[in-house]
This record gives sequence, structure tokens and C-alpha cells, in this order.
Amino acid sequence: MKLATALVHAGVRRDPTTGAVAVPIYQSATYQHPALGQSTGYDYSRTKNPTRSALEDALARLEGGSQGLAFSSGMAALHCALQLFGPEDHVLLTEDLYGGTYRLVDRILHVPFTFVDTTRPEAVRAALRPNTRAILVESPTNPLMKTADIPAIADIAHEAGALLIVDNTFLTPWLQRPLELGADIVVHSATKYLAGHNDVVAGALVARDAALGERLTYLQNGIGAILGPQDAYLVIRGLKTLALRMEKHQANAREVAAWLAAHPLVERVFYPGVGGMLSFNVTEAALVPGVLASVQVCLFAESLGGVETLITYPSTQTHADIPVARREQLGISDKLLRLSVGIEDCHDIIADLAQALEGARCKNPLRDAPAAHRA
Ligand SMILES: *Cc1c(COP(=O)(O)O)cnc(C)c1O
Repeated sequence: MKLATALVHAGVRRDPTTGAVAVPIYQSATYQHPALGQSTGYDYSRTKNPTRSALEDALARLEGGSQGLAFSSGMAALHCALQLFGPEDHVLLTEDLYGGTYRLVDRILHVPFTFVDTTRPEAVRAALRPNTRAILVESPTNPLMKTADIPAIADIAHEAGALLIVDNTFLTPWLQRPLELGADIVVHSATKYLAGHNDVVAGALVARDAALGERLTYLQNGIGAILGPQDAYLVIRGLKTLALRMEKHQANAREVAAWLAAHPLVERVFYPGVGGMLSFNVTEAALVPGVLASVQVCLFAESLGGVETLITYPSTQTHADIPVARREQLGISDKLLRLSVGIEDCHDIIADLAQALEGARCKNPLRDAPAAHRA
């Protein structure tokens, strides 16, 4: 079965009793035992729930792994994966990774880590320590859209006896399949493209080999941050249209990136050529409030990956937890805006950005100031 077919068939043929085409929402916490010492395979829904199992099987199939696991959020999925490591271990992290992942590792779990530029495999190799147990990569990165050579980093990880974990939220298995490129674990904020409609918060892990899958399943049950059956249903529902959505997100993003690159108030566009996410620097930070106040089709909101176009200001939103000095060093400036390009008609997105940039130029308090007063 090809991937597009597997996506449409996520959750199908799960209920031989009725033949239900849409996966039933098993809103049951517990399950009646047939007899002493017997089980239907389901005992208690933290451990296993049929609707969640349908999603977990689909996730494993789509990423090409042995075990999929669904969580109450992307952070819960990352939290579970990071429980594989302790204070005696060391992990390498992509330097401009999702702010919440940095907060989890540094402020909550206190796993010793080093930031590394994962666009340069030699920098990754140089950052290894004898106790490095994992390399956690985002590709493309958020918000600067830098890409990593996943096969090269997988080799470096495995030579060092470490795991490669890839956060595949931005590209999804439709555009990138990290396990096939050598990664050991894939992480998703399923809130984003997998579910795709800005109506559910969910997370996922997929493990390549069975032993690692078993260990993560043990941790998922033990920690308990599982995805509920109604939300699992919504993610399955979203998966069915993932291929169509990703193609449209990508086609729109390519057009928007090209249009922005030619705009006089845009200094630089960050678009990796793949996927539906892009960022851009406006020529001055003073334009930002005006752009955010003027958009009418694009919504000023956090998050990404849904059908609606969202515009985000990383320095005060997604990346607010990254210290200012570090943000500046990475190039996450106060002129940077991020777009999650939706699946609307592209002309409407571009016309909206055109009027918002023009509106911002008119509202810019520095517009008519003498040059000497400009920052
Ligand atoms: C949103 C996001 C997360 C966190 O996921 P939640 O579902 O919000 O908990 C992790 N990684 C990336 C790349 C994200 O975009």
C-alpha cells in the first residue's frame, strides 16, 4: 500500500463487529475480563485503548516504525522520550529548536545537554562526549528553517552508541521519513500537521526497533500522559487528508516565499524549499505591530500546521523562553515573523500580506522620522 492510501485508511477495519468505516470512539476507561486470567487485549485505557491503538498503529505504519505511541501533547511525547536518559547522561540538541523542548530539557528535566549546529555534521561529531546518549534534531528548525543531513547524523550517533531522535513535526511522514534515514525515534507535535485543523492538542512517538518501542510503551503507561479516545479520533480524522493538505501547504508556501522575497519591506526570507512553514525578517522591528494588527486572512496566533494561515512573532511567543542573548546569537531577531502557510487560495494570503505590510508602513512611527533617529 502506498503512503497516500495508508493515510486514507488510517483507523479503517478496526471494528469487525459492526464494520464501522470510521474508527469508533471507545469511551471506556476499563474492560470486562472474559474469565480469570483472560483479557480481550484491553484491560485499562491508560495502558491501551482501541481508538488510541488505531492511531498508534497508523503512526507506526506511516513513519515506518515498529511502535507508535500517542500522547496528550507534543511536550508529553518529548517528556516520555527524554525519560530514557538520566542526570549521568548527556544529549545534543539542535541549537534553534522549539522553545518548549529547550524549557523541558533545561529547566524541568535537567538533562545535561549541549546545543549544536545540526546543519554541520562535523560540529555534531565534535560536540560528542563519552556519555552522549542521544542527539535530538529538528529539521527544518523552528523558526529559522535550517535543515540537517539526517543520514550523516544518524551515522555519527550510532558510531558513538547514541540514539538519533528527530522531531518531524514540520515535514510529517508525507515529506520526510526520518526512520528510513537512520533515526531511532520520531517525535511529533500531532497538534500541528498530523491533526491539521487547529482543533486538538496531541503528541506522538514512533520507535524504529521493537525493544525501544517496548521501553517507550512501558514509560508511556507508567507516566500516563496518554491521548484520550476523542482526541485520538480527531488525529486519525486529520491524517486521512494529510497528503492533500501537505501538497497544498507546500505549493502555497513556495508562492508566498517567492512573493515575500521580492517585497521592499522584507529583508530576508527563510524557506527551506519544502513544507508549509517559512519565516521572514521585515526591514525594521517597528513594522511588526502594524503587520500583526493589519492581517485579516492570516490569523495572529501561536501554533502551526493547521488549514488556516497563522502568523507568529517568535521572539515574544514560541521562543520567549530562550534567553535574549542566545536568541540574538541564533538570528531570531525582533524583526522575524513566522508564517504557517495554510491551504486557503494563495492569492488571498498574498493580498492579505500585501495590505498588512502596507498598513504597517503607514502606521510605522519611525516612517517620517529623520534618518538620525532611526535605530
Ligand atoms: C508545537 C511543537 C512542539 C510541542 O508540541 P505540543 O503539542 O504543543 O505540546 C514540539 N516540537 C515542535 C517542533 C513543535 O512545533
